[in-house]
Amino acid sequence: MSEHTREAMEYDVVIVGAGPAGLSAAIRLKQLDADLDVVVLEKGSEVGAHILSGAVLDPCGLDALIPDWKDKGAPLNVPVTDDAFYMLGEAGKIRVPNWPMPPLMSNHGNYIVSMGNVCRWMAEQAEELGVEIFPGMACSEIVYGDAGEVKGVVAGEFGKNADGTPGPGYEPGMELHGKYVFLGEGVRGSLSKEVIEKFDLSKGKEPQKFGLGMKEIWEIDPAKHKEGSVTHTMGWPLGSNAGGGSFIYHLDNNQVYVGFVVHLNYENPHLYPYMEFQRFKHHPMVAALLEGGKRVAYGARAISEGGYQSMPKMVAPGVALLGCSVGMVNVPRIKGNHNAMLSGKAAAEAAFAAMKDGRASDELTDYETDVRDGAIGEDLKKVRNVKPMWSKRGLMASLVFGGMDMWTNTFGFSAFGTLGHGKTDAEATGEAAKFKPIAYPKPDGKLSFDRLTNVSFSATNHEESQPAHLQLKDASVPVSINLPKYAGPSARYCPAGVYEFVKDDKGDDKFVINFQNCVHCKTCDIKDPSQNINWTVPQGGDGPNYPNM
Ligand SMILES: Cc1cc2nc3c(=O)[nH]c(=O)nc-3n(C[C@H](O)[C@H](O)[C@H](O)COP(=O)(O)OP(=O)(O)OC[C@H]3O[C@@H](n4cnc5c(N)ncnc54)[C@H](O)[C@@H]3O)c2cc1C
Repeated sequence: MSEHTREAMEYDVVIVGAGPAGLSAAIRLKQLDADLDVVVLEKGSEVGAHILSGAVLDPCGLDALIPDWKDKGAPLNVPVTDDAFYMLGEAGKIRVPNWPMPPLMSNHGNYIVSMGNVCRWMAEQAEELGVEIFPGMACSEIVYGDAGEVKGVVAGEFGKNADGTPGPGYEPGMELHGKYVFLGEGVRGSLSKEVIEKFDLSKGKEPQKFGLGMKEIWEIDPAKHKEGSVTHTMGWPLGSNAGGGSFIYHLDNNQVYVGFVVHLNYENPHLYPYMEFQRFKHHPMVAALLEGGKRVAYGARAISEGGYQSMPKMVAPGVALLGCSVGMVNVPRIKGNHNAMLSGKAAAEAAFAAMKDGRASDELTDYETDVRDGAIGEDLKKVRNVKPMWSKRGLMASLVFGGMDMWTNTFGFSAFGTLGHGKTDAEATGEAAKFKPIAYPKPDGKLSFDRLTNVSFSATNHEESQPAHLQLKDASVPVSINLPKYAGPSARYCPAGVYEFVKDDKGDDKFVINFQNCVHCKTCDIKDPSQNINWTVPQGGDGPNYPNM
C-alpha cells in the first residue's frame, strides 16, 4: 500500500454539513430505521462553529422533525413579542404598519434563536439516535463511481505544504462511501457547485441570486433591551445603490443580533458592503440602542435569494442537494432554516424508501417532487416575484407590487406569472468608470469598527502553512482585468479583508490573498466579476469559531 493511500468506509448515507439541513436528514434517517449507518461530516471545529444565521426561526421544520422539541430542551427560549418594520432616511424613520403586510410576513409564533446553538442541540439529538458526527472534517472532493454516479466524498485531508505537496505530518484523509450522499453545505457549497456543474442541474432554471449578510452580537444596556423584539429596516444607507436592509433581534441575556444584508447584484463596484453596515449603526435609531453597549462577536455569510425559480434540479445519481445548497430562503421573510430542516427530512424519507426497495446510487426523484410540490415549494412560490421586482424596479415598487403579489399568491394566483432574475450577481457588476466612488466615514471604534478588528471577533483561524483555499483560475486576472475595469472590487466586497491590492518593490500592482482571515462567507466565489475565484475548503477545523451566532 502506498504511503498516501486512502482508506474507505462504507455507510448507508453520507451527509456533508452539520447545518439544519444535514442534521435534520441524519435525525430523520435514524428515526425511520435505527440500524442505518449514517455519518455527518462538518468542516467547523465543532458543530455550530460555522453557523451564521439571523435568526428568527419558524418552528414548522422542527415541529415536523421532533414534535416534542420543547420537552427535549431545544434552545428556542425567546418567542417573538413584537415586530416592527421601518423605512430609514439618513436621520429619520417611518414605521410601516403591520396591517397591510401579507399574513406570511408575520413573526407571531416564531422564536429568536442562535442557530449555532440550535445545531449543537440537534447534533446531540442525532448522536443519541446513533448518528456518527465528525466535526473538523472538511469534505474536499467528490468520489465518483464507475458509472459516473456520486459514490462518496473525501474528508479529513490535512498537512499539505503551501505548494500543495504533502507536508511532514500529511494525512491523506478518508473516502466515505454511501448508498446516497447528501450535500447540506449551505449557500454556494463547494462540492455542490461541482455537482451542479457536472450534472448540469441548473439547466433551464433562473440563475441563483445572493446577498451578503454581516452580523454582530452586542451586549447592550439592560434598560434598552426588549427580549423578543424584532426590527427590520430598509432604505438608508444603501438607498438606490443596492438592495438590502437590516435586522435587529433582541434575544436573551441583554444580547442583540445586529445584522445587515446587501444584495450582491449591485452594479457600482465602488460599493463597500462592510462599510455600509458600519455606517448603518450610526443611524440615530440604531446608535441610541447600541451606545454604551459592546460588540462581542462578528461574522458574515452569503444568503441565497433566487428562490423558487432558481432552485436547480436537486438530485443526480447517488446524490441529493439539501437546504441552501439548493437555495431555499424565503427572501421577504429572510427565512431559510425551516425549509432547510424540511428538505433534510424529505431527503431522508426518500432515501429510506429507496433503500427499503433495495435501491442505491440512483436519483431520489421523490425528494425533488416533495420539495417542489410540498410545503417548501408552497412557501417559496408565494414570494417568487419579490426579489426580481426589487432588482429590476427598485425598493418602492417591490414593496407595493411585491406586497400585492404576495397577497394574491396567498389566494393562489399571481398577476405577474413568474418573473426571471436575468443576470448572475457577477454579471451585474458594472465598470468602475461609469460609477462614482463612495466616501465612507471612518469607523469610530465605539459603534463602528475597522474590518480587521471586527474579524478578530469571529475567532477565525487558518493553519498558515497550507495552500490558500481561495484559488485563482488565472493569477493575472485580478491585476490585468479586475483592477483597471472594476477598481479591484474584491478589496471591498470581502467582509473579512482577505483581498488586497498592494505595490511591489518595483511599484507594480500586486494582488494579495490573506486567506487566514476568511470567514467562509463565499462572497468572492459569487461576486468576482471575472468568476476567477474558486472557494475550496481549507483543512478541517479552520475558519471562524462562532459562539451563539
Ligand atoms: C445574515 C443571515 C441572516 C439570516 N436570517 C435568517 C433568519 O432569521 N431565519 C431563517 O430561517 N433563516 C435565516 N437565514 C438563512 C439561513 O441561515 C439558511 O437558510 C440556513 O442556514 C440554511 O441551512 P443549511 O443547513 O442548508 O446550511 P448552513 O446553515 O449554511 O450549514 C451548512 C453547514 O455545512 C458545513 N459545510 C459546508 N461545506 C462543507 C464541506 N465541504 N465539508 C464539510 N462541511 C461543510 C458548514 O460549515 C455548515 O456548518 C439567514 C442567513 C444569513 C446569512
